[in-house]
Amino acid sequence: MLDILAERLRQGRRTVAFPKAVPDLPPRYRGLPVLADNPCVESCTACAGVCPTGALGVDAESLFIDLGRCILCGACERDCPKGMVTFSRDHRLAASTREGLIVRPGRRPQVTPLEPARRRLFARSLKLREISAAGCNACEADTNVLTTVVFDLGRFGIDFVASPRHADGVAITGPVPRNMLAATIATYQAVPDPRVAIAIGGCAISGGLFAAGGDAAHGATPHLPVDLFIPGCPPHPLTILDGLLRLLGLPTP
Ligand code: SF4
Repeated sequence: MLDILAERLRQGRRTVAFPKAVPDLPPRYRGLPVLADNPCVESCTACAGVCPTGALGVDAESLFIDLGRCILCGACERDCPKGMVTFSRDHRLAASTREGLIVRPGRRPQVTPLEPARRRLFARSLKLREISAAGCNACEADTNVLTTVVFDLGRFGIDFVASPRHADGVAITGPVPRNMLAATIATYQAVPDPRVAIAIGGCAISGGLFAAGGDAAHGATPHLPVDLFIPGCPPHPLTILDGLLRLLGLPTP
């Protein structure tokens, strides 16, 4: 017993200080894209040409990246001859609307907290049923990590539960292909009203890399009233946690 206590003292506190402070993210981490406001070289398609998901484009307004499709591979940053795209280490990528995930120069995603009725119910206790709708297990792993001692999701009253009947909402990962569609919708409908739907990762938002396949896998967005979109491939656990806290109107840095 004494050995256990000594080891506990030696290890100290392992839970991240977030949301009081943002932990140091590794130098290789790619967060919010920063797009330059200069006009692109006419007819240059260097960045769009290498984008594997068609997330990046130029329209009459500006250069833009759709974070709902972006897998943060960094190819556009590498190949743009004018350095128009760089990636910051800003982990705050979640948005309340699908359109809100379109990043332009000087514009970033925003999360609007749930309306008061749902916030009153869920702000101190939000139970989620995870639906892995043909994910590759990366988003599932980073969601699972939230329940470890490092992120300690339970300290915010948020947890994952086994049954939709015990849940306040669903967290969907994966591109939701045809063979998972009925199960995804049935699970959402099994959650008592009022409820929330959260799409985690580029696949659950848009189909990600699988959207171009032949299995109608365009994520949860076309099928469920998603309240929170958390982009990434996979999203960093901090990005997921930040989005959840913002949805509940809890303090975040
Ligand atoms: S980082 Fe995103 S926008 Fe850039 S090439 Fe990769 S997927 Fe496309």
